[in-house]
Amino acid sequence: MTDPSSHDYDAIIIGAGVIGGAVAHELSGRGWRTLTIDKAASAGAGSTINSCAIVRFSYSTVDGVMLAWEGYHYWPDWANYIGTDDEKGLIDYHQVGQLLVRTDDEDSHTEKVKKVWDKCGIAYDTWSSEELAERLPIVDQGLYGPPRRPDDDGFWDDAHGQMTGGYFTGEGGYVSDPQLSCHNLQRGAEARGAEFWFNAQVTGINKTEGRVSGVTLADGRTPTAPVVVNVAGPHSMIINQMADVYDSMNIKTKALRHEVHHVPSPEGFDFEANGVVAADDDLGIYFRPEVGNHILVGSGDPVCDPREYVDPDDYDRSISEAQWEAQVLRANRRMPSLGVPHEKKGIVDLYDVSDDWIPIYDRTDLDGFYVAIGTSGNQYKNAGVAGQLMADLIEAVEGGHDHDNDPVISTGRYTGTKMNIGFFSRNREINPDSSMSVHG
Ligand SMILES: Cc1cc2nc3c(=O)[nH]c(=O)nc-3n(C[C@H](O)[C@H](O)[C@H](O)COP(=O)(O)OP(=O)(O)OC[C@H]3O[C@@H](n4cnc5c(N)ncnc54)[C@H](O)[C@@H]3O)c2cc1C
Repeated sequence: MTDPSSHDYDAIIIGAGVIGGAVAHELSGRGWRTLTIDKAASAGAGSTINSCAIVRFSYSTVDGVMLAWEGYHYWPDWANYIGTDDEKGLIDYHQVGQLLVRTDDEDSHTEKVKKVWDKCGIAYDTWSSEELAERLPIVDQGLYGPPRRPDDDGFWDDAHGQMTGGYFTGEGGYVSDPQLSCHNLQRGAEARGAEFWFNAQVTGINKTEGRVSGVTLADGRTPTAPVVVNVAGPHSMIINQMADVYDSMNIKTKALRHEVHHVPSPEGFDFEANGVVAADDDLGIYFRPEVGNHILVGSGDPVCDPREYVDPDDYDRSISEAQWEAQVLRANRRMPSLGVPHEKKGIVDLYDVSDDWIPIYDRTDLDGFYVAIGTSGNQYKNAGVAGQLMADLIEAVEGGHDHDNDPVISTGRYTGTKMNIGFFSRNREINPDSSMSVHG
């Protein structure tokens, strides 16, 4: 590393979303002088603001499950982790548990996840159909899969079988105000000496003698640092192009448009109080309780749904009739008393999708330039542990470690899990075990 005293900061972090905030919080806690820059007016105003913020461990790889298991532990320990007050209050973690719907298909994603849980020692309850009916009486346990769109002739076909209950992890849950978590991270980092600049757009990545040396902003300012971290969410690709590292990465990222819908809980059932987070691969949806006794319905990215890759600065932010119907009618099949409200409520935002839907937590071919990107609609839950991985990686590489040939291993501060950061390499091949989809 170049002499840090010749720079304004030790590290510049581009993006004050939940991952950028966690990187700033972690590095500043280790004594780094960090500057976080965001073009928005406040923390968490990028894709994090519309995150479903579901915390779950249903991944199809051992590394994915263990990262999520370690990552979960930050949420119930949030006040301690943040380490300071926030005048806006701290987030609440709603630990309602997560249910994976069981079908009769032994080759299903759910059974694959269960096998990985068994390997990893993740505890879960196996619910019978009767237990499921007792917990969630509004659920119709018919099997209708594979997922279809409402204009498919078979959409309203009768059930071809019955669910065999589900797998339930009691630690799963959600955060109902993901933007607040970013403000909490900002306040936590500031208490450790970190600086944040808002309404500040990065337009260039600066280099000196072959390594990164800072950034240029739209207003002409040029803060300097020997380390720059790209945590720009769906704009990650644009920042990588500015740094001239885009072409040298084997795994790329791009912005994928996504809709999430909110419908009132059926009459007579308080889903906000009694609901769980649920992943339903039979119908291609996931759902969770939402404030105001609503049910939030997301898409599990079934193959029949079109994938809309867009320019992150120019895309349609209104809910489309076709996707509203697809998600809300699928939810109606599972909960027939739900109904379809006239008013379409929900959000449209972007996933920063990597080629295999697994994040990239890595260095790049430009010395000093790091990436925490490709979070693919599923890394809110891992913000705390991602902050740790990035800080461990940056400290090791800046200390001379050859991460590309000898990947850094990070030890989870809560579970002691050994996490091989090489799993998230920019130069990996597409992981064939990835489901290329998410449950939130
Ligand atoms: C609809 C939706 C539902 C999701 N549901 C879940 C879920 O249930 N569970 C889960 O774990 N994950 C979920 N995710 C994924 C999760 O929300 C993201 O992985 C996470 O929020 C990404 O955080 P981030 O900090 O990387 O990015 P962002 O929050 O997008 O932050 C990036 C920041 O960079 C800033 N920026 C960009 N370009 C520039 C520039 N040139 N100069 C300065 N600043 C710049 C932006 O303004 C932005 O604030 C969901 C995502 C979406 C969109």
